[in-house]
Amino acid sequence: MKRESINNDGEVIDYEVIYRPAVTRRLHLELGADGLLQVVAPRRWSRRAIHSTLQQRAPHVARFVTRARLRQQDLPDYQYADGEQHPFMGEWYPLRFRETLSARAEVELRDGQICIVRRPVESPVSKKSLQSLMQRWYRRQALQQFTTRLAAISETASWVTGIPPEMRLRRMKRTWGNCSSRRVITLNPHLLKAPENCIDYVIAHEVCHLRELNHGKAFYALQDELFPGWREAKAHLRTKGHIYLV
Ligand SMILES: [Zn+2]
Repeated sequence: MKRESINNDGEVIDYEVIYRPAVTRRLHLELGADGLLQVVAPRRWSRRAIHSTLQQRAPHVARFVTRARLRQQDLPDYQYADGEQHPFMGEWYPLRFRETLSARAEVELRDGQICIVRRPVESPVSKKSLQSLMQRWYRRQALQQFTTRLAAISETASWVTGIPPEMRLRRMKRTWGNCSSRRVITLNPHLLKAPENCIDYVIAHEVCHLRELNHGKAFYALQDELFPGWREAKAHLRTKGHIYLV
């Protein structure tokens, strides 16, 4: 990939252009795993137009890169070692290992610890298998928690009648939830790592979409009504959310 650069008051900012057909209107900034700025652009933007747009907005681009790099640095890099802290509904709990003779490995949250209970291990267990064990656990807990909260929140929404809306779980990289035009709410199981008010906010947000598909005035009026504390929750997810998405 060809590298290009802009200049922000003497500071050179390198970037690469990535054309993505799904991107239709604007330029979108991302930070690559290697820390290089990636500019995702619709096909019809020439490299020249991209460069001049970025150059015109150089201070904004510089700010984006600085913040994104900072965020990248404080991302947890889980090793699944004894004592390592893992999030669950806004709290962090140490991971502990316990041995059992029962057949299957299990995860449980008790006494302020996330316990991985498993058979006495002869060979070392891979990080990957512990990761998938934890992911399955988060998913089961998320299903339980989100189902309960969705039912409770829908009950207070005057526009939802009858049974609670259909819900699915899907692990997503950037999105907490969405609501399809067929009225199916999809939630990201990673959301279970966030505090309760954030979980409620995302669910309430999607429940509002059952009535108003777009983020217009009417949508925000519904959201204010259903979950008045949404701004605070949204701000928390904006600044801390990336930590839960790992
Ligand atoms: Zn929305």
